[in-house]
Amino acid sequence: PQPHSAAGAAVKAADRAHVFHSWSAQELIDPLAVAGAEGSYFWDYDGNRYLDFTSGLVFTNIGYQHPKVVAAIQEQAATLSTFAPAFAVEARSEAARLIAERTPGDLDKIFFTNGGADAVEHAVRMARLHTGRPKVLSAYRSYHGGTQQAINLSGDPRRWANDSGAAGVVHFWAPFLYRSRFYAETEEQECARALEHLESTIVFEGPATIAAIVLETIPGTAGIMVPPPGYLAGVRRLCDTYGIVFVLDEVMAGFGRTGEWFAADLFDVVPDLMTFAKGVNSGYVPLGGVAICGEIAETFGKRPYPGGLTYSGHPLACAAAVATIGVMAEEGVVEHAARLGAEVVGPALRELAERHPCVGEVRGVGMFWALDLVRNKETREPLVPYNAAGEANAPMAAFAAAAKAGGVWPFVNMNRTHVVPPCNVNEEELKAGLAALDAALSVADEHTA
Ligand code: PLP
Repeated sequence: PQPHSAAGAAVKAADRAHVFHSWSAQELIDPLAVAGAEGSYFWDYDGNRYLDFTSGLVFTNIGYQHPKVVAAIQEQAATLSTFAPAFAVEARSEAARLIAERTPGDLDKIFFTNGGADAVEHAVRMARLHTGRPKVLSAYRSYHGGTQQAINLSGDPRRWANDSGAAGVVHFWAPFLYRSRFYAETEEQECARALEHLESTIVFEGPATIAAIVLETIPGTAGIMVPPPGYLAGVRRLCDTYGIVFVLDEVMAGFGRTGEWFAADLFDVVPDLMTFAKGVNSGYVPLGGVAICGEIAETFGKRPYPGGLTYSGHPLACAAAVATIGVMAEEGVVEHAARLGAEVVGPALRELAERHPCVGEVRGVGMFWALDLVRNKETREPLVPYNAAGEANAPMAAFAAAAKAGGVWPFVNMNRTHVVPPCNVNEEELKAGLAALDAALSVADEHTA
């Protein structure tokens, strides 16, 4: 909807005149002017309210405007709003302690960044310096961020325009049974064959040239493919065998999204480096980081780490993290996400899949779910082609418009919609949102064959 109110129109006009938006052809976009947000909802200047099934870009894990986090930011601003990174500052020390207490294994040192992509950049730099090796392996179905190294690690088509061919990245196929690259019919086959494929990739690339394997614990933007049991443990073993640093990217999956503090906890796997951002402080102030294991931290014990940021561990961002982690612990947000995922979202989406011809597969855990939409359930042909735009993407655009008309702001990527509301979404609101999704899927059904 276009903003009809004068205030909304002014916000929109200034945006269109001066704001250069991410990933967009600037003249072809029509951003909604947002007037406010609270909890799991946001609204425009014309009184339209939307249940946010996207959590922004999957970062408002405790919803918008949580009063305790807002107060903590205000308090920090009044006390010490900023300070250079070389000093010990209470909010930073406390955020690092709270994060390190929750990360698995001996990931006990925290390097703070401004967001997810730079966390990934630094994890790769640490792995290269630690091993003295140049290359990095990552999955085709992945997204690791928009900076040069991170976008080249990504398998997302947004890499293509940024690929100089010089990033030192080799891509491989991670397991995904529904669209198996390995002709697998069971999770066990998919897991074993994906590990065999990864090991032969390592052997043929030359283990002594590979610094790191970087994986999202559960790939997010690429489609929320929960890895089969044993896969991540298998990758851990391959890393140990070949002296490769194992990096898990938990920028999207971390901090409660999966119903655990970290998705790695679902699989009992401990990486050497783990990246985080987004949910660490629900995105109220930009923050990301790398959690570092003892051995890699030791590499930079006597030798300086050649990397840093002016705002590493910014006090406002860290105070927001301290408050967010506190809220999540006090209010049982992680457990809430696990319960609603298992008892409400999972069953509801599986029921939708039975009724709607367009729903090919439902997958996910916690507050982290994807519906893979198809033209045909038998052939599994995606509802729109890979990386479709314009007219070819019309069925997904129609679905998204129907969801918005029903009061739910949907996450849409290619032929998928993801159900990723705040992890503390209220159960009744969630059920109303799922009902609106049901109606929007009927619009998508019209494009099946
Ligand atoms: N890694 C993963 C898994 C992500 O999902 C994202 C963002 O969506 C990033 C990295 C990049 O994070 P940022 O956009 O904060 O740089």
